[in-house]
Amino acid sequence: MSEDARRTAVVVGAGLAGLTAATGLAARGIDVTVLEARDRVGGRTRGIEAAPGAWVDAGAAYLGDRHTELLALAAETGLKTTPTTMLGASRFALRTGTPNGTGTPDATGAPDTTGTPDGTGTEATTGDGRFPPLNAVALGDLFERLAELTAAVRPQAPWLTPDAERLDALTAAEWAEQHLSHPDARLFFPLFLGEMCAADPADVSVLHLAFYLRSGGGLRYLNAFAGGAQQDRIDGGAHQVCERLAERLGARVRLGEAVRAVHQDDRSVTVRTDGGAYRADVAVMALPPLLADAIAYEPALPTRRAGERTGRGCAVKVHLVYPAPLWRRHGFSGWSVNARGPLLSTVDDSPEGGIGVLTGFVTGAEAHRYGALTPQRQRAEALAQAARLFPMLPEPIGFHVTDWLNDPYSRGCYAALLGPGDWTRLGPTLTAPHRRVHWAGTETSTAFFGLMEGAVRSGHRVVAEIVDRT
Ligand SMILES: Cc1cc2nc3c(=O)[nH]c(=O)nc-3n(C[C@H](O)[C@H](O)[C@H](O)COP(=O)(O)OP(=O)(O)OC[C@H]3O[C@@H](n4cnc5c(N)ncnc54)[C@H](O)[C@@H]3O)c2cc1C
Repeated sequence: MSEDARRTAVVVGAGLAGLTAATGLAARGIDVTVLEARDRVGGRTRGIEAAPGAWVDAGAAYLGDRHTELLALAAETGLKTTPTTMLGASRFALRTGTPNGTGTPDATGAPDTTGTPDGTGTEATTGDGRFPPLNAVALGDLFERLAELTAAVRPQAPWLTPDAERLDALTAAEWAEQHLSHPDARLFFPLFLGEMCAADPADVSVLHLAFYLRSGGGLRYLNAFAGGAQQDRIDGGAHQVCERLAERLGARVRLGEAVRAVHQDDRSVTVRTDGGAYRADVAVMALPPLLADAIAYEPALPTRRAGERTGRGCAVKVHLVYPAPLWRRHGFSGWSVNARGPLLSTVDDSPEGGIGVLTGFVTGAEAHRYGALTPQRQRAEALAQAARLFPMLPEPIGFHVTDWLNDPYSRGCYAALLGPGDWTRLGPTLTAPHRRVHWAGTETSTAFFGLMEGAVRSGHRVVAEIVDRT
């Protein structure tokens, strides 16, 4: 972009992508305005003050060493990381019918007596490490098959992957039906997908699954705590990155401005909200695809941002707050994996040296069911399950449910789920500017798609794109 020709930009969305883009544009002397629908910045990063001064992540939380752009941004805004704690035994409620679930003594060598039936016939067992006590050969076979798919995908252009059309037409559920014969692999696959990308296997294509795993650094990296994508958290909450960027941008960030329409002609682009119209040389839409598609464009977009089968990631995050991480005193890490919901996995997200926070992930189809319950029922179900998994815990002193699935300004998380046909149809145009309108957001990043890192990288990409405009 020549210095004199285009000097103004409107950025839509004050999440990590939008604020990274706005910061980069402002640094290049471009007069930027950020329009954000909510009354807060941060988008899919959000902090909850679980106790005075103790913040937990209701949205994105984890990052690893390869998330270099996010780490740079955090350091540059004066934030530090803190390691995710994973010391002690895990709990698994995966099997039905036998006294300790696996039918064998648990990792301590003694039959598990702490688990109690949960009314669904699933009982909890104790084990070392994070690997579930399921048939190791069946799980090894599952991971080998996934690794093969992941290795074959073209991460920069998934639609050019060999056999892309077939892989894009097939859902992960259909693939599992065809390829996974062992009941343990069939049991674990949806749990794995829920944990990795908050997806129901019926909602994503195999091409998207393979791409997602590759884009995020591969199966091993994406799934690991120490040395992997879940190694650290931002001390005090990931939302602070956006808050600090927004502080610097000051009055240029306008909250409560839901964008409804984007009109452009040869001279400018006008972005309309209920409160007004903002004219600029270029616009950056830093939104998830389903929300970008809800805006009216004149002239119309040549290709929509989402397809008929583009899904919402389905995650509801539950926080149980205790006076201290009490499970640690009993040798438990807080990690659990469960075949029945609502909490399909739990993890210790306690801030340093204070309260104990057990985070529960409700994902996939279970998120739809749980999201529709009354708050009383949600609390009752989550507390009952926590008591079965960790019978030593008292009633929590705090309880929070964050439903991203039904949030109108996220419509799901961790990220959009590209369903059958999406990559081959939408992929090639995902980042192509529509005249003066440019696209950002984690869903436009082929590296670390769906993650905070992908959002930050998309912000940098769009700045370069705009600066390069002639
Ligand atoms: C529960 C949960 C767990 C997650 N876990 C992790 C994790 O551990 N690690 C990780 O790296 N990532 C994780 N993620 C994903 C991560 O949060 C996202 O990839 C990232 O924050 C996306 O940033 P973004 O800027 O692309 O989009 P968003 O953060 O969604 O920003 C879009 C912004 O646009 C605004 N907006 C929407 N519509 C309009 C409109 N019409 N007009 C104006 N503004 C609008 C929204 O309010 C929002 O602020 C998680 C997400 C969630 C919710």
